[in-house]
Amino acid sequence: MKSLFIVCDGLGDRLTNGKTPLEAAKTPNMDLLAMNGITGIMDPVRAGIRPGSDTSHLSLFGYDPFKLYTGRGPFEAAGAGIKLKEGDIACRCNFASMRNGRITDRRAGREEEGLDQLSKAVEKIKIDGVKLIFKRCQGHRAVLVVRGKGLSPRITDTDPEETGVPPAKSKPIDGKKDSVKTADILNEFTRKTIEILSDHPVNSKRTGNGKPPANVVLCRGTGINPHLEPFKKKYGMKGVCICATTLIAGVCRAIGMDTLDVKGANGHTDSDIGAKAKAAIGALKKYDFVFLHIKGADEASHDGNFQAKREFIERIDREVIALVLEEVKDTTVILTADHSTPISIRQHSADPVPIAILGDVRTDSVKKFTERDCAKGGLGRICGINLMGIILDLGNDAELFGA
Ligand code: ZN
Ligand code: ZN
Repeated sequence: MKSLFIVCDGLGDRLTNGKTPLEAAKTPNMDLLAMNGITGIMDPVRAGIRPGSDTSHLSLFGYDPFKLYTGRGPFEAAGAGIKLKEGDIACRCNFASMRNGRITDRRAGREEEGLDQLSKAVEKIKIDGVKLIFKRCQGHRAVLVVRGKGLSPRITDTDPEETGVPPAKSKPIDGKKDSVKTADILNEFTRKTIEILSDHPVNSKRTGNGKPPANVVLCRGTGINPHLEPFKKKYGMKGVCICATTLIAGVCRAIGMDTLDVKGANGHTDSDIGAKAKAAIGALKKYDFVFLHIKGADEASHDGNFQAKREFIERIDREVIALVLEEVKDTTVILTADHSTPISIRQHSADPVPIAILGDVRTDSVKKFTERDCAKGGLGRICGINLMGIILDLGNDAELFGA
């Protein structure tokens, strides 16, 4: 049985003037899906745990983030197209501006002039005993991978997350040799970026044009690339991800899923989600498990914009769910979110998310796809880590436990 797994990032919410954005939105297609399917609510990671998008997706794909997750770095690096090896250390980086030893702008003014050239200079940095892989991502962002023996993610960031101070010294969180070694490497890397970038002609040009220099690279979110059993081996299904967010694409790549790029998909509220839906439906011909990630609702939530979130949900209903209901047959369709991002707090919360599954299911009496309606559904309250088991079972592909 094939599966189409649709995750609307940050969809869940709390009440604003008595309603959640999902309740306020007109969503006839989502409601039809809920009416003909089985519904429930889900704690993406665990009850009371506020999920990041990375830990949540790991959990939804059945990989326990409590055992496997050490930091965002490896998933950002995988999303940026770096093939990681088990044991690699990876962190997220920012080009930043410094004057007289103090950081003046953590994002180098978001000014991209010459960053490709500066990035090439940083790529040449060498440190004895390890291999460094540095790659520029969008804007002022980049990723750093440290490959070698005896490394540990148990270190602090060199990004102090504030201005007016020098770059932070990375420190081992525990006293272990591996952590001390890794912190030393990160400090040496930071020192060398300052050395190479300070006198770089690109920066003379930038400052000459009245722009802030990009004269240091700051690191954060260090994690170790864990052993992740490939999705296909774990579930016997060939999976593909359709997603415009680097971090989520990184999680999918890390578990060995293919990724499909869709023109016009950008991870924002103006993304061409209809094109993504078409791509997802098309991919069902070639793949057993198609994962469609839609980001916009989370973005609107972080902006605290109820109206934008409601309108984006209505777009998902019209441009994605309507098409899915019309064209997808003989497939288990799952509609849910990776966490709630309440408008009132503009950040992720542990509030459970609604979920509806269409397929060979025992329907329930729920007729609307909302947080409060789905709470009365036949799935009850489930945990994200159990979702893949439920999907496999509904597709009659689950292994028998016992005799
Ligand atoms: Zn998310
Ligand atoms: Zn978010």
